[in-house]
Amino acid sequence: MANILVTGGAGYIGSHACKALAAAGYTPVTFDNLVTGWRDAVKFGPFVQGDLLNRAEIDAVFERYRPVAVMHFAALSQVGDSMKQPGTYWRNNVEGSLNLIEATVAAGCKQFVFSSTCATYGDQDNVVLDENSAQHPINAYGASKRAIEDILRDFEAAYGLQSVIFRYFNVAGADPEGEVGEFHQPETHLIPLMLDAIDGKRDALTIFGTDYDTPDGTCIRDYVHVCDLVDAHVLGLNWLLEDKGSRVFNLGTGTGFSVREVVEQSREVTNRAVPMTEGDRRPGDCTKLVSGSVRAETELGWRPKRSTLPQMIADAWRWHQTGDYSA
Ligand code: UDP
Repeated sequence: MANILVTGGAGYIGSHACKALAAAGYTPVTFDNLVTGWRDAVKFGPFVQGDLLNRAEIDAVFERYRPVAVMHFAALSQVGDSMKQPGTYWRNNVEGSLNLIEATVAAGCKQFVFSSTCATYGDQDNVVLDENSAQHPINAYGASKRAIEDILRDFEAAYGLQSVIFRYFNVAGADPEGEVGEFHQPETHLIPLMLDAIDGKRDALTIFGTDYDTPDGTCIRDYVHVCDLVDAHVLGLNWLLEDKGSRVFNLGTGTGFSVREVVEQSREVTNRAVPMTEGDRRPGDCTKLVSGSVRAETELGWRPKRSTLPQMIADAWRWHQTGDYSA
């Protein structure tokens, strides 16, 4: 079975990707520094603890496992945090990715699947985005990811490295079989924070900003189920292994939901009240990030199966009540 090097395989999206890779007949080799990931989330292949800021550790994993491709999830990914600690974000995300990309080329591996983000687009007046939309990030997280996209283009020109770049919209939900799920420490994302507030594990949810230029004043995001998202990665990997060349794909559903709509939907799914307060805007937040996925559907044959808001919240809620990695 072909080995796939999965950086960040102990994290939320990476662990779901490892499950999908194993189901598709690949062996996912997780490389993770466990700063935000969990050893107990690595269930579907070998684990190597290592840091992308240490080139020798990356070279060693290539030497030992000889992966046919890389899936690069490892990153710091919180918008608000990136505005407070831009240096940390640039160093970790860009320098770490550059080390990995150089090591990939040095090992003679030519296939690279990269987790990018809708945050590379920045704030654009009420448009539904597509892959050709201009990229003007308004936070350090998005800027760091855009820089890595640029590095990949330069390495293709110089060394023939082929990449599939996925720009994610908001990832939510959890493995319906409960083997892996979303578990951040500290948690900053809307849906898991809200579920914590609903069952009293933390204080009320604060809505960050109610004066945005949207129908109800709160930010609008396009939520995608993590299982659908990782299915796209397996299709992207196969695309590269079939030698179809570098390509960028947005992974969204084309439908946006405001923070208030997510709150209301969570109340319905859990049948419980959502304790909440209204607060200031969070620096770095875009008003609206919504994308179609026409390209992923037509070219990759991607068919999201679980990406309705009630399904995502229900899957997140089930995981929230039954699973974590701290046991
Ligand atoms: N949000 C919020 N309160 C929170 C966390 C998030 O109102 O405690 C809002 C946030 O401002 C954004 C949306 O929920 O509009 C999604 O934020 P999240 O951090 O989940 O993902 P992001 O869009 O930053 O990747």
